[in-house]
Amino acid sequence: MLDLQRQYQRIREDILSAVERVCSSQHFILGPEVEELEREVAAFTGAADAVGCASGTDALWLMLAACGVKPGDSVITTPFSFLASASAIVRAGATPIFADIDPATFNINPQQVSSRLKEAKARALLPVHLYGQCADIDRLQPMADEFNAVLVEDAAQAIGAAWGGRKAGTLGLAAAFSFYPTKNLSAYGEAGLVTTLDPARADHMRRLRSHGSSRRYVHEELGWNARMDAIQGAILRVKLAHIEEWNQQRRELAAGYDRLFGDAGLDGTALTIPFRDPKAHHVFHQYVIRARRRDELREFLTARKIGSEVYYPLPLHLQPCFGYLGYRKGDFPESEKAAAEVLALPMFPELGEDEQDWVVQSISDFYC
Ligand SMILES: *Cc1c(COP(=O)(O)O)cnc(C)c1O
Repeated sequence: MLDLQRQYQRIREDILSAVERVCSSQHFILGPEVEELEREVAAFTGAADAVGCASGTDALWLMLAACGVKPGDSVITTPFSFLASASAIVRAGATPIFADIDPATFNINPQQVSSRLKEAKARALLPVHLYGQCADIDRLQPMADEFNAVLVEDAAQAIGAAWGGRKAGTLGLAAAFSFYPTKNLSAYGEAGLVTTLDPARADHMRRLRSHGSSRRYVHEELGWNARMDAIQGAILRVKLAHIEEWNQQRRELAAGYDRLFGDAGLDGTALTIPFRDPKAHHVFHQYVIRARRRDELREFLTARKIGSEVYYPLPLHLQPCFGYLGYRKGDFPESEKAAAEVLALPMFPELGEDEQDWVVQSISDFYC
């Protein structure tokens, strides 16, 4: 599914010297490495500023808090995502309101957002760029404007992705990134970051990530310890220099899967290959098919030692922890259908062509 060893072997010298740099400085939390990373990610995305933090989950919370989400507010998001997209809303004191997905892209469906906005006043819209493809910002931004809500991005899976030529991280007021080890740009532990178009919000996030303090032991408001380790900052700087190349390799591998599934006569019959929105620059954090008899196929692949994964098997409105929100099975049929059909196949820049052939050959063996 993902072999991080191969990447490490290729950049080992640079990683070790970055770690050595931090150890020699004995400066372990924030500091110059994290500040440089913030500048470099802001420049890479085109955002005004960036704030490093301890995880993607913390990035979501910092972003929501700094964009004015307060206790008693509500925030519209997708039920077809990782838990943190919604739990961070609760952490900011607000209530998630779900809107179903577009079955083609798996991203939040603007039409559904529009009806939610008419029913309830929301402080923010939080689309998730799922699998590395941006949500339909052209339709979401005017809705946010009309209803006086802020648009913020869950870009955890989408570093380097773009919409209409603008990079994820600049498509709303702010965007949250995760550098969890499986992500396209990944740390050697936990790390996250928020980009924003508004320098004042960045200053606020810098306070919030250090217990709401800008002067030592004076706390203007309650924050949290959400700081990034210097070692993670230094490692991420090494890897950021490769991200365009790695994303391009992912895109080529995705095109390779498409071609092989087409040649095998599987696309449109046994399975459906990922749809690309013409406005989106997809960075294939995951290559996700819809598959008939998905669970049986997965067992078959596992028996051949081929990794695959279901992102995500239980939509957020049906999670036990969100029972208090009062949603029922059947409320978001497209998300529930996707949860039953999606399968992510091996995808990482170093995946070999022969390995990819074997994945497709095996899927073909299963169906034929
Ligand atoms: C990974 C991920 C997160 C959380 O990031 P962590 O770094 O694991 O806290 C949030 N949202 C989405 C969509 C993710 O994929």
